Amino acid sequence: MQFNNSWHHELDGFYSALNPTPLKNPRLLYHSQELARTLGLNETLFSQDNVALWSGARLLPGMQPLAQVYSGHQFGVWAGQLGDGRGVLLGEQQLPDGRKVDWHLKGAGLTPYSRMGDGRAVLRSTIREFLASEALHHLGIPTTRALTIVTSDEPVYRETTEPGAMLLRVAESHVRFGHFEHFFYRNQPDKVKILADYVIRHHWPILAEQHDRYLLWFTDVVQRTARLIAAWQSVGFAHGVMNTDNMSILGITLDYGPYGFMDDYRPDLICNHSDHQGRYAFDNQPAVGLWNLNRLAQALSALLTADQLHQALSEYQPALMQAWGEKMRAKMGFLTQDKGDNAILTDLLSLMARTGSDYTQTFRMLSHTEQAQARSPLRDRFVDRDAFDHWYHGYRLRLLQEGRSDNERQQLMKAANPAIVLRNYLAQQAIEPAGNDDIQPLARLHQALSQPFAEIPEFADLAQCPPDWGKKLAVSCSS
Ligand code: AMP
Ligand code: MG
Repeated sequence: MQFNNSWHHELDGFYSALNPTPLKNPRLLYHSQELARTLGLNETLFSQDNVALWSGARLLPGMQPLAQVYSGHQFGVWAGQLGDGRGVLLGEQQLPDGRKVDWHLKGAGLTPYSRMGDGRAVLRSTIREFLASEALHHLGIPTTRALTIVTSDEPVYRETTEPGAMLLRVAESHVRFGHFEHFFYRNQPDKVKILADYVIRHHWPILAEQHDRYLLWFTDVVQRTARLIAAWQSVGFAHGVMNTDNMSILGITLDYGPYGFMDDYRPDLICNHSDHQGRYAFDNQPAVGLWNLNRLAQALSALLTADQLHQALSEYQPALMQAWGEKMRAKMGFLTQDKGDNAILTDLLSLMARTGSDYTQTFRMLSHTEQAQARSPLRDRFVDRDAFDHWYHGYRLRLLQEGRSDNERQQLMKAANPAIVLRNYLAQQAIEPAGNDDIQPLARLHQALSQPFAEIPEFADLAQCPPDWGKKLAVSCSS
């Protein structure tokens, strides 16, 4: 295993070098075997004897840990300097295929950027981040990934006392919009340029020699962001805290806090209980994505003209609509295009919103549609059955136009409509036993989320709508 430290060597002034602060009596609670294999890591690394590796007490040869500095807009307001307040970038693993991955330890203790915080993460939020990033990854959505969860006897104070924990998170990069904003607002355009050059060199090497590389690069950032948000919308995922410091320059999902997968289809879902204005409501995510890109554009104003910035930003809406359209068409089972398709989709969504139909189950059940079947089993899920029957009639006519077998269409739809998503209540059912060192429910949920499009009888209980207690779960933003 080889570690490089390009951030350390190439970006002087963009970090503080420091070691993680170990936890008291750490135990390796869980790890992703599949990710470990992908990274070429031997299973013996995950024995309890090696817990020091995953809890910040021992470094691997070549690691030069550091905390990155960044700033950001939080809830629409400039927040000034933030930075890795509880996370430490341990090093960059060099993979045999030439790629590199950041190893980032979250909950690793105080850093110069901890502000009022304690530098720690609690077990509850660590498990939530682990599960959500695995869930999104297996849904085919770009995201950071999670390798290990360590728990401990270290008390961490939130609303109550909780066990201190650490998450080893990996990603191609942890660069955020806020990294660029930091130096722009400090009036250091030279550093914005150094960072842009670094990011292009490492993550867009194909652009490095192009004379209009900044424009091509920023345009790609715009499009990646649009595609990411389209993907979130298609599976009913609300991030919850789309501050610019939580926006990845690579267009991957980053920093899981009070996120939520929708149960009932409610486009105005607010999953972050501190978000009183609904800024990060589910249906506001596309607009917030563009707002955040505008903040990034401003930070890049020394590299690109106003016209170039506008040109790149104007790619957002088409990229979003194209990606969202493709995903929703697959969910509906449409391979061909028809001008009435949009109306069929929006009519279904408004029926679902009126009834509060379960987002995931409705589309999954729709995947079983047989064209010749005049009545859909779905109709019982709608309050206004006449309205549903009317819609379903039109939908069947549209399917007739596709001219494909039920089986062929059902396969397409089942690959686009997950049977299992990480509902809040499911995460809760894994978290509580894990607090008593019982990882069975966590491992089982993780396994189910790793095959979200399969209908596995053994996991049928995990595909269910939430029970009443699960609908009312409030997700605290304290993590
Ligand atoms: P988040 O809302 O988790 O994305 O964090 C926003 C900022 O607060 C980042 O700079 C974090 O590093 C910092 N932060 C969050 N929680 C803590 C904590 N417990 N201790 C220190 N810094 C924290
Ligand atoms: Mg953050």
